[in-house]
Amino acid sequence: MALTNKYLADLLETVKKRNPAEPEFIQAVTEVFESLQPVVEKRPDLVEAGVFERIVEPERQVMFRVPWVDDNGKVQVNRGFRVQFNSAIGPYKGGLRLHPSVNLGIIKFLGFEQIFKNSLTTLPMGGGKGGSDFDPKGKSDGEVMRFCQSFMTELCRHIGADLDVPAGDIGTGAREIGYMFGQYKRIRNEFTGVLTGKGLTYGGSLARTQATGYGLCYFTNEMLKANGKSFEGKTVVISGSGNVAIYATEKATEYGAKVVALSDSNGYIYDANGIDLDCVKQLKEVERKRIKEYVATHPTAEYHEGCSGIWTIKCDIALPCATQNEINKESAEILAKNGCFAVAEGANMPSTPEAIEVYQKNGILYGPAKAANAGGVATSGLEMSQNSERLSWTFEEVDEKLHNIMIEIFKSCDSAAKEYGMEGNYMAGANIAGFLKVAEAMKAQGCV
Ligand code: NDP
Repeated sequence: MALTNKYLADLLETVKKRNPAEPEFIQAVTEVFESLQPVVEKRPDLVEAGVFERIVEPERQVMFRVPWVDDNGKVQVNRGFRVQFNSAIGPYKGGLRLHPSVNLGIIKFLGFEQIFKNSLTTLPMGGGKGGSDFDPKGKSDGEVMRFCQSFMTELCRHIGADLDVPAGDIGTGAREIGYMFGQYKRIRNEFTGVLTGKGLTYGGSLARTQATGYGLCYFTNEMLKANGKSFEGKTVVISGSGNVAIYATEKATEYGAKVVALSDSNGYIYDANGIDLDCVKQLKEVERKRIKEYVATHPTAEYHEGCSGIWTIKCDIALPCATQNEINKESAEILAKNGCFAVAEGANMPSTPEAIEVYQKNGILYGPAKAANAGGVATSGLEMSQNSERLSWTFEEVDEKLHNIMIEIFKSCDSAAKEYGMEGNYMAGANIAGFLKVAEAMKAQGCV
């Protein structure tokens, strides 16, 4: 979809000038603006209120030094980020990414996407994101703890249970959240729900670990059903082998699909018999090993170096669950040629704009990240509710609420797409539905 609306095209130019060297952020804004063109036509009041200009500018962004001492006694320095993008509908909410590729532009793209995603969940959460270029891989527990403590020593000045509630993301799992929560509590001398994804013994929610992967499959199942299809008997390829990929594999398998491939940033495994998930959980969640170790115990499975080859495996449904821009035009064309009929995104922005065009041209059902992977933040929202109530709900209660939220998210995307004349375009539907709720709140609250 080209950006032909002059008002939005001019505004995009301003965004590009104001944010040079942030290609991922520009990519995310461009995609949203393309979808919002019919909204500009239909809602001059939102243009009048300056909502579009305001929504692309973070309310606040913090960058800070994170010094820590490694196991050899040497001082290391990383850079920390927290971008508080939009608080129109609730406290800022969004994960903390720990990965060497992290920079301000990546955190801004993630924070921008988070505004619309959080709005779609139906829960009162604003959009934010943070992280650091620290790489937890290959570090000892002690090093990870010292980094997390130093990171939180600064971050704790900017967050709070009613202000900004970070969560996990790439590289930030239960271990890192635990260390950060401990440091926050120690410095602020208060026990509050300031982070989500916490351990179950100190305020975490059951089903949070499973939420993004399960939610992705709940959303995908609705999308398939609405188009007369299902997971049953289908071959599925999933990239990544982290939190999202593991629980997407679990739920897709429960729905009767066969997941045949997983990956990490070094390469991918292909197991024609279906992935042995217990083995992957042991390797990844317990031993923190590389995915290639899988073939040591599964000699009929194959390991291939490099990530993008995973999209050459013939499949019916593809669920990218690793990282941004992992499916480019070429990979999307191979998926289409091999008969893949649905792509739903567990990772944030895993498809390039050219790949999305290929899906659309080939009639591939496309579930965009901000809708399809919203189950993680939705369940974080449920963790916040439990913390406020000082109660813990059962796994079944949380899972049922998550399931209903994902059904509602699919319905909003579907109906917004229909209302704005783009039936079946769930990307446009997600952008429009997510935007409108935030835009109404911004308009109501005046020029702030
Ligand atoms: P994890 O750190 O648990 O796992 C990430 C997986 O992706 C690992 O297998 C990792 O491989 C792989 N990966 C990371 N970076 C790259 C890269 N540059 N190239 C290829 N593979 C890579 O993270 P999550 O599973 O939590 O997150 C995965 C995606 O889902 C991210 O886009 C995240 O933003 C998104 N997401 C996560 C949510 C959550 O609740 N956790 C919620 C919503 C979205 P390796 O181990 O080699 O680094």
